Parts: sequence; structure tokens; C-alpha cells
Amino acid sequence: MSGFRRSFVLILVAVMAVAAGSVLYWQQVTQRLATDARESIVVVSRELTDNFERLLGAELQVLTALAVSLEESGYLQQKTQLVSYLSRQNRRNSFEMMGFQFPSGEAVFSNGASRRNFLSAKEVSFAYEHSHYVSEKRKDPFSQKDILVLAIPLRSHGENLGIVFGTQSVDFYADTLASNSMHGEGLSFIITQEGNVVVSFPQVQFDNVFEIAKNAVFDRGVAPGQMQKDMTLGKDGLAGYALNGHHRFSSYRPLAYNQWYGLSVLPTQSMAERAQELMVLSLVICLSVIGVLVLLLIFILRMQHQSSRALFQLGFVDPLTQTDNLSAFQLKFSKAAEEFKQKKVPVALALINVNRFKAVNDIYGFEQGDQILKQVAQALQSDLAEGELFCRSGADVFLLLLACPDREELGRRVDAMLEKAGRFCRSGGECLPLSLTCGIYLVDEDVPFYIMMDRANLAWASAKRHAGKSCAFYDEAYRREIVNENKIESSMEQALLDQEFKLYLQPKCDFKTGITHGAEALVRWLHPEKGLVPPDSFIPVFEKNGFVLKLDLFVLEESLRCLKRWMEEDRPVVPIGVNFSRLHLEDPCFIDQLADLADQYAVPHALLEIELTESVVFGNVERMKQVIDGLHEKGFSVAMDDFGSGYSSLNVLKNLYFDCIKLDKEFLARGEGNPRMRQVISGAVKMIKGLGSSIVAEGVETREQADFLSRTGCDMAQGYFFSRPLPVADFEKRLWDETRK
Ligand code: C2E
Ligand code: CA
Ligand code: CA
Repeated sequence: MSGFRRSFVLILVAVMAVAAGSVLYWQQVTQRLATDARESIVVVSRELTDNFERLLGAELQVLTALAVSLEESGYLQQKTQLVSYLSRQNRRNSFEMMGFQFPSGEAVFSNGASRRNFLSAKEVSFAYEHSHYVSEKRKDPFSQKDILVLAIPLRSHGENLGIVFGTQSVDFYADTLASNSMHGEGLSFIITQEGNVVVSFPQVQFDNVFEIAKNAVFDRGVAPGQMQKDMTLGKDGLAGYALNGHHRFSSYRPLAYNQWYGLSVLPTQSMAERAQELMVLSLVICLSVIGVLVLLLIFILRMQHQSSRALFQLGFVDPLTQTDNLSAFQLKFSKAAEEFKQKKVPVALALINVNRFKAVNDIYGFEQGDQILKQVAQALQSDLAEGELFCRSGADVFLLLLACPDREELGRRVDAMLEKAGRFCRSGGECLPLSLTCGIYLVDEDVPFYIMMDRANLAWASAKRHAGKSCAFYDEAYRREIVNENKIESSMEQALLDQEFKLYLQPKCDFKTGITHGAEALVRWLHPEKGLVPPDSFIPVFEKNGFVLKLDLFVLEESLRCLKRWMEEDRPVVPIGVNFSRLHLEDPCFIDQLADLADQYAVPHALLEIELTESVVFGNVERMKQVIDGLHEKGFSVAMDDFGSGYSSLNVLKNLYFDCIKLDKEFLARGEGNPRMRQVISGAVKMIKGLGSSIVAEGVETREQADFLSRTGCDMAQGYFFSRPLPVADFEKRLWDETRK
């Protein structure tokens, strides 16, 4: 799963979790609030009844105290005194008015007025019977306000002296209910058992609550007449109902007076609002938390994205060319190759290297060098077809995966690419030609990528070897050759120590008599597995890796050892020609080294002939002259080997003095059945003779050849017709046998 999809799912899950949590929370809060509301309305109605009872109780106490003081005062006999006493008392308390009703039915008021039967006989007897009395709601006879009348009977020694009473306006009680109105949200009532409103806060327009309740729709579990029924039984209760589209809770409790009830009503609305407020608050908190989480997540993802991009850059992008690097190329390779395979198009892995890039860096500096690499990369990429790949695998090496519908066609395409990429123009406009070499491996086998790389690399190395070739395809024979070279290289040092290299000597003979006048030292490798290996299969490898320097000296020493022994044993002695690779010529100590070695074995220098091949001679005439002169100075004779194999220029020979010229066997072979060539050969022989050099013909295999060469004036023959190269013992036997004859 990609990072983005994962984080999207993560955010979704988080949001869903928070949403589910919110719904749960909402339900919990609503339920909790409903329970709270029910509980709190019960508490409120209890407080309502308690407060009201306490108030009435306190007022009745005031009246009781007044009754006691009246009895003692003796004012009952003096009406004017009674009125002024009452009015004085009234000023000290909260009653609207106070009064006293005599058993005769006459009632006097604190304002001086009097009325008959202000309290009815029924009310008076209730008061005597219960020691107190609270009236129903009635009109004040003076102010016409709604009032309640509270009364206390006055008795002395079993005699009823009258009733002390006080009037209190309903509004006064309503004010006390205000404290139980739940911050103005609820309604508080004092009602009679029949539902008639005695006191209400706030003021209501109706007189009977049961009348109103008729229109209410009660909650499940609450019977419609429940409240009324409870009140006739003196029970308290709680009911939820909807009225005029609003839901409310009502709680009712009986009062200690007149079988009245305290009734509290609380709209559910306010509770829902509070829940909503809470909900909104928690939602805001939740959303803020989600917001912060999301921001945090985005931040983390961005950091992650940035660091993975940086990692990707590090791991898969070449910092110089901003193209794929080897790792990226390798990752994409098999997929791309597979896609071509499905289209039945063969693919090739091409490895391209800028030739002598180190020199480019040295000449133009690293900055320019980098610039060149960028342009080469750009040029190589510009010709890619769809599905093909490119990368810079390191330094000045580029890899390409190319479609190869046709081998020849691909060769031409790559040549054109190399040509284009090799045209590098510096900022000044000056164009410098670069040369590039490419090795191509046509992917024909399901082998690991590193093997394909090796093969493309081998092809590149073979292109590199062939001067003038900018592109080569990998082939199995070449690979085997390389493998063989590697094997040779890995075992050559040990072979030298183990004396696997053997000296062979090939006689140089007189044409007529066949008598041996000289010999050529030729090396053989007596390989423990391969048997006798001819020098052509290892000398070129040793020339490449420099081992030939050691081997030549070994052959020289072996030859010197023979010469020394022959001399010591007083045997016939013939000069031995020793082959020296061109590599020796680069060593300024070469000649001294030869002389020293010969001296070590006490071999006269004249018994050694130094064979240098024609190609070396014409490579650097000046140096050659120095070497030949140096060798002559030390008394060695010098032979030019392989004359006529390619580079021969008779003109050059005029300036270089060779003691001997060895005609190449190919040169002779070309003269076989070719009269013109024979003329060339005899002309060359005459000319060489004219320069004073002796001539050895190599590769003489037949009598006919021997006769021809002898006629042209060659001095000696070296060839199978006379003798093959022989092991030292065989050569010695032949030589000694000849002299015995
Ligand atoms: P080369 O110096 O031209 O040696 C003569 C080669 O011709 C020898 O091959 C010899 O066996 C071969 N040959 C002689 N007579 C005939 C003939 O009648 N017919 C044919 N077909 N070939 C004949 P060999 O021994 O295989 O040596 C090959 C080359 O290896 C030599 O060519 C020489 O260039 C090089 N080589 C051999 N030994 C040494 C060495 O000790 N040092 C160096 N640097 N090169 C050596
Ligand atoms: Ca030779
Ligand atoms: Ca030769």
C-alpha cells in the first residue's frame, strides 16, 4: 500500500472513530442529562415545598407570638388599644394586615377597620381544632388583591378568646417561589388537590393545572390521569409530557397545609439546549483534536515523503546527470526486458565508455569533465525509444537497454548514437570530438544481471582492443578466449616457479649440408593438464600483462646455461638466438642486464643473437637504432625477426644494421607457386645481402623451398624440413652426432 493510501485510510479511521465516539458521547450525555434533569426537578420540588412550608410555619409562629402577647396585654378589652397594638406589630412583620376576630364574629384589623365574620364559623372551628389555619386563596376585602389568611386561635383556661390572623398577598408567596424557579427556566406552583392554582411563579393565565394537563401527551409509562390520582392519594410523583410542542418534566409533592401540593415544571428544552451546548463544546474540542492530529499526520507524512525522496535520490538517482543510477537501472531492467519479450522483440544491454576520459579530465578540469558527462548522458538518452532504459553506472560508463529487432540495424544505431554523443561543444562554441566505445550483449540467455554486465563489458573490451572499432557484440568465442587468458594469468607465476616452462632449440642449418650452425631458443609450457602448450597461445597474453619480461630472461638464462655447459664440457658450440619482446626496449637497463647475465655465465656475447621482431623495429626507428648500437657495443649480434610479415620497409633497413635478417615463414609461403612473389623474395634477399646482413629463412618445410631459397642466396634455413624445435637433450644429440660424422 502506498504511503498516501495508508495515511488516507488512517485519517478515515481516525475520523470514523471520533465520529462514533461523538455519537456515543451524545447519547451518554443526553441520557445523563435526562437522568440529571429528573433528579434535579425532584430536588427542586422538594425545596419548593420545604420553603413554602417553612414560610407558612414562620408566619404562623409570628401569629402565635402575637396571640400570647395579646393575652397578656389585656388589649382585648380595649378595641382602640388592640388596633394600635396590632398596627404596631404589623409594621414589624411582613403581613399585609393583621387582625383579631372575637368569638362574637367581629373582626378588627390593624388598619382600624372591622368586619363581621371575616373568618367563617367553619374556618374558626378548623383553627380551634388544628391550632392553626391557612385559608384558600381569597380577595382582600380592602385592596381586592389575592391573599391568603393565616390564623392562630387564642385560648385561656379552656375559654376561646378569639382568633389572631394575618393576611398575606399571593404575590408575596409568588416571590418566594421565584427562588425555586430554576433560573427562570421552570415554573413553580402551589396548587390544591384539585389542581387549582394557589400561588404560581411566574404568573400563569390558567386557574387549574389539571385542565391544562388534559391537552398534554404524557411520556411512555405515565398514565394521563396519574398526577391527579397521585394527589388524591397524597402521593408525590414525577411525569414527563409534551404540551404545545414542548416537552416538560413535572414533579409534585404534598404540602403539610390544606392538602396542597408543590408542583415544579422544567422544560426539557433547556436540558437539550444544555446538552447541545455541551455537545458543541465537545465537538469543537474533538474537531480541534482531529485537526491537530491531521496536521501532525500531514507534517509526519511530509517529513517521511521528503526523507524517502532524499533516500530515493541517494539510492536510485545519479547525482551528476540526474538520471537513473545502476541500482535503479537494475531494478527496472527485468521488467522492461520482459515487456519487450512479450512483444517478441529481442533486447540488448549496451555498455558505453568514454575513451581516455581521464585525459579529458586532466586537460579540461573536473568541472568541464562533469559537463561533458552530462552532455553525453543527454545525447545518449535523447534517442531512446519507448520502454528502453538508460543509466550512468559510474564515472564515464553508461548502460542502455535497447530493443534489438535486428543485429546489424542495432550496430548502426549504436554507432550513430556514439557519433552524436561524441560531439561535445564547449560553452565557447568550440567542438571537441570525444570517442566512445560500446560493448553490446544481445540478451539470449536467462542469466543474472551481473553476468549480462560482464558480457557487455567483455564486448566493450574486445571493441577496445580492435583499433578503429567503436562497437562490438559479445560472442562466446571471445569470452572463452578471455577466460583462457585469465586462467593463464592466474597460473603463470607458479608455473615459472614449478619449472613448467621448457627450453626448446630449433637448429639453423646449412642449406646444402643440413649441418647446424646456430639455434633459436623457443619456449614451451609443459602444462600439468594441457600438456605441451605452444608459445603462440600464451606469449600474447604475457605481452599484455608484462610477464613476458620475466619469461624472456628465463629463456635467456636457460640458453646461457646450455652454452656454458657446452663450453665447459668442451662440446661443439653454436650461437643461440633468443627472442625478446618489444617491452624490453622500454627498459633503459635492458642491454646492461643482458650483458651482466651473459657475464655471470661466462658466455661470450657473440654466442648470443638477440631476435627483435619486425613490427618492433619499425615502430620507433630512432630508439631501435640506439638499441642495436648498444647491443653491438656489448658484442651481441642482432637479428630482425619475421621480416616480410607486414611492415617491412627496405629503406629503413639502410639506416639500421642487423647482423641477420630472418625471413618470415608467411613471406615464404606467399611465394609458393607465385612466380612474381618469388621474384620479390629473391630481390629482397639480394638487397639485404647488399646491406651486409646474413639471411635466415624460417619455415622451410620442403626440399623445393630449400632449393629455391638457397639459390636466392639465403645463408641458413630454419624449418621443419631440417628439424623441428627440439628439447635441449635432443638438440645436443643432433649437434654432437653431426660433428662426429
Ligand atoms: P618465431 O620467433 O618466428 O619462431 C619461429 C616459429 O616458427 C616457432 O614457433 C617455430 O616452431 C616455427 N617454425 C619453425 N620451422 C617451421 C616450419 O617449417 N613450419 C612452420 N609452420 N613453423 C615453423 P613457435 O615455437 O610456436 O613460436 C612461435 C612464436 O612465439 C615465435 O615466433 C616467437 O615470436 C614466439 N616465442 C617463442 N619463444 C619465445 C620466447 O622465449 N620469448 C619471446 N618473446 N617470444 C617467443
Ligand atoms: Ca624468432
Ligand atoms: Ca620468426
